[in-house]
Amino acid sequence: MTLPNQHHKHERTFTIIKPDGVQRTLIGEIIQRYERIGLKLVAMKLMVPTENMVKKHYTLDAGWKQAVGEKSIKGFLDKGQTPPSNDPLEIAEKILNRLAKYLTSGPVIAMVWQGAHAVKIVRKITGGTEPLTSDMGTIRGDFVLDSYQMSETDDRSIRNLVHASGSVQEAEDEIAHWFKPEEIVDYRLFQEKILYSADMDDIFG
Ligand code: GDP
Ligand code: MG
Repeated sequence: MTLPNQHHKHERTFTIIKPDGVQRTLIGEIIQRYERIGLKLVAMKLMVPTENMVKKHYTLDAGWKQAVGEKSIKGFLDKGQTPPSNDPLEIAEKILNRLAKYLTSGPVIAMVWQGAHAVKIVRKITGGTEPLTSDMGTIRGDFVLDSYQMSETDDRSIRNLVHASGSVQEAEDEIAHWFKPEEIVDYRLFQEKILYSADMDDIFG
């Protein structure tokens, strides 16, 4: 999203409050965490996604299946546990089907956040994929207690409250998948003057 000639403040990222986040009544808490750091909400909608939308969302990046399968295997091995399979793609296929079930189970909130380093900042606030090992102070670390092992036992997706784009490219593709260009609002937040202007010279009359 950030073109070479654009300021960092134009970077955008895509987030979803997943059905468990809505059901846990954490909408306000989650939005507050993204908002209070200085990011600007530029698009938002409440919806129940279709299975097709979810599967397409997770496969926009051709490398996602390999990466998610490898990460899952590592999650088991790091704890001295045996992964359900040693084939990342086989694991990824199962994860994708579980994700389709999870994300279509109720309403979600899709959002676009804008600001300097939006992608990395939102990932930092969100925390690592597995709530059991994500850092305290992050959304996934503070509000949910799921693990790779428990979700595997129950043959379901890890419940981790939110989705957040993993890279600027992923964000760009996901925003285009979930929002029409006219649904994204270009406006100024007055606090941006303090966050981004080279001089803080407008404070006194
Ligand atoms: P994220 O970017 O941190 O959300 O993680 P990924 O893009 O790797 O995975 C997408 C989502 O799939 C995660 O947020 C989880 O909800 C789910 N998921 C990922 N890996 C696993 C896994 O190994 N087992 C299960 N059950 N769910 C997983
Ligand atoms: Mg991801």
